[in-house]
Amino acid sequence: MIEGTITKVSGPVVEAQGMSGSRMYDVTFVGKLKLIGEIIRLAGGNAIIQVYEDTSGLEVGETVTCTEQPLLLELGPGMLSSIYDGVQRRLPDLAETYGDYITRGTVADPLDHERKWEFVPVVAAGDVVAQGDILGEVQETEVIKHLIMVPPGKGGTLSEVKSGEFKVTDVIAVTEDGTEFMLVQKWPARVPRPVVRKMDPNLPFITGTRILDTFFPVAQGGYSIIPGGFGTGKTVTEQTLAKWAQADIVIYVGCGERGNEMTEVLSEFPALEDVRTGQPLMKRTILIANTSNMPVAAREASIYTGITMAEYYRDMGYDVAMMADSTSRWGEALREVSGRLEEMPGEEGYPAYLATRIADFYERAGRAVVLGSDGEERIGSITVVGAVSPPGGDFSEPMTQNSLRISGAFWALDTSLAHRRHFPAISWLGSYSLYLDQVEDWYSNNVSMDWKQLRDKAMSILQKEAELQEIVQLVGPDALPEFSRATLEVSRMLREDYLQQFAFSDIDAFCSPLKQYHMLKVIIGYYDLMQEVLVKGVTLKEALDVPFRTRIGRMKDIPNDDAVEQLEALEVEMGTELRKLIKY
Ligand code: ADP
Repeated sequence: MIEGTITKVSGPVVEAQGMSGSRMYDVTFVGKLKLIGEIIRLAGGNAIIQVYEDTSGLEVGETVTCTEQPLLLELGPGMLSSIYDGVQRRLPDLAETYGDYITRGTVADPLDHERKWEFVPVVAAGDVVAQGDILGEVQETEVIKHLIMVPPGKGGTLSEVKSGEFKVTDVIAVTEDGTEFMLVQKWPARVPRPVVRKMDPNLPFITGTRILDTFFPVAQGGYSIIPGGFGTGKTVTEQTLAKWAQADIVIYVGCGERGNEMTEVLSEFPALEDVRTGQPLMKRTILIANTSNMPVAAREASIYTGITMAEYYRDMGYDVAMMADSTSRWGEALREVSGRLEEMPGEEGYPAYLATRIADFYERAGRAVVLGSDGEERIGSITVVGAVSPPGGDFSEPMTQNSLRISGAFWALDTSLAHRRHFPAISWLGSYSLYLDQVEDWYSNNVSMDWKQLRDKAMSILQKEAELQEIVQLVGPDALPEFSRATLEVSRMLREDYLQQFAFSDIDAFCSPLKQYHMLKVIIGYYDLMQEVLVKGVTLKEALDVPFRTRIGRMKDIPNDDAVEQLEALEVEMGTELRKLIKY
């Protein structure tokens, strides 16, 4: 055990001497209270430690103990439904024992070490197993089977395999050379878990939200950025994604600035129902929350804790959605610690390595063939949605800029839309997705060949609307030719009857890709038909004054299962009705 003494305390950063032999990122216990910290710089026997707890009262001369191990997470059954802090200490337990705040220096087992789990092996003595291979299964919650895997770098011929009820630290299998496997495995949070290979992000991460899926899709294993302006619907969007998006596991990392933001998440998430199973959503969710009494440094770790857990479930072959809210808080933590280290500051005081750190984090997302001898069969993914909350909504600041630079999709929440109660308040002119071309094949094969064409046409109508609005402001709508007024009418339909989607509606909260396509086809079909009949002498008033129009407004309420049939019928009817108006 390496023991040093404190020579300086500067906020969350502590310096200690006599630390020879310790390594970067080793976990240390600091002072009499044994506060948890990590070594972030070493020079000779001097170590600089970032402490994850409040350092007030800490004194020069107190002891620092180095555990000679990095921040290791316990990965195993029991993580789902849990609420952790940034260094994987379970929160509700701690709260029960110590009240609302975690007492400093508290060490709690990340997993319940007493609870027994029913382990059903899928291997037998004599089998040869390699890293990533499945040893057996544990029903972790009603909805998720937890696969017990051979940890990376391990393997061998099994000499013994047990079955029955075990605690996470009980040995459930042993190899001939004595390697023991338990239900739990440990892994350093800052080290990405290995995979066989990353795959191209060419499948859509289906969310059921039309503006996201059709206009600005994110690929499964991709990452998107969402700004977190207050009151614009960030929380609702995140909760909608957690509930509906195509993911088996949801990991939410909250680094709220204000204490009440986190309280909201902690009280609301556990109350959400999983629409697919009727069970609480927490049965497939892990929450990581930075409580208000934890100093900035803890936020820095929480994002790694979250992504490591995501990787572990990905390794089982699950699709994981991770939400990090907000990554700006994490960036601020980097800045604060860097400042304390008196490093050369980069832009706005952020360290020069900010961009690399952000890129390294997002690099851990992806869709991958995971370890295991089952070849190319087991594929898992991590899709990351990272919120950014630029101070004062200024997107030019470094954290937002660096996140945007690497993100594949950007969902711009727009305050003015929220004010007009247009929800989801995601701007169609300010958002983008770089995954469109990648997911196009999937849509061509599974939805329709002209999916992308239709989407692009809708987008161009919305863009045209913005141009026309400028003219309307100057001269009024009546000065516009009828074709342009038809465009305005259709773009209004796109906004109101397509893009607006009420997150709390029973039917419309999730819109299937097929229904999305057919809804769009009706609106664009109407546009094309209007252009066709207007040149043949039909007036705009006549073309708009058609009985089927109200049905366009009610498309949202058609259940997903009936949508194709009903919307195809509507398309046919539109053609007949509008062409009837042609007089010659
Ligand atoms: P933020 O987290 O950005 O502060 P919220 O997500 O709490 O904002 O949203 C504020 C309010 O906007 C919500 O209470 C809700 O009434 C409304 N809202 C946001 N998104 C939607 C949506 N998709 N559908 C319906 N209402 C929404």
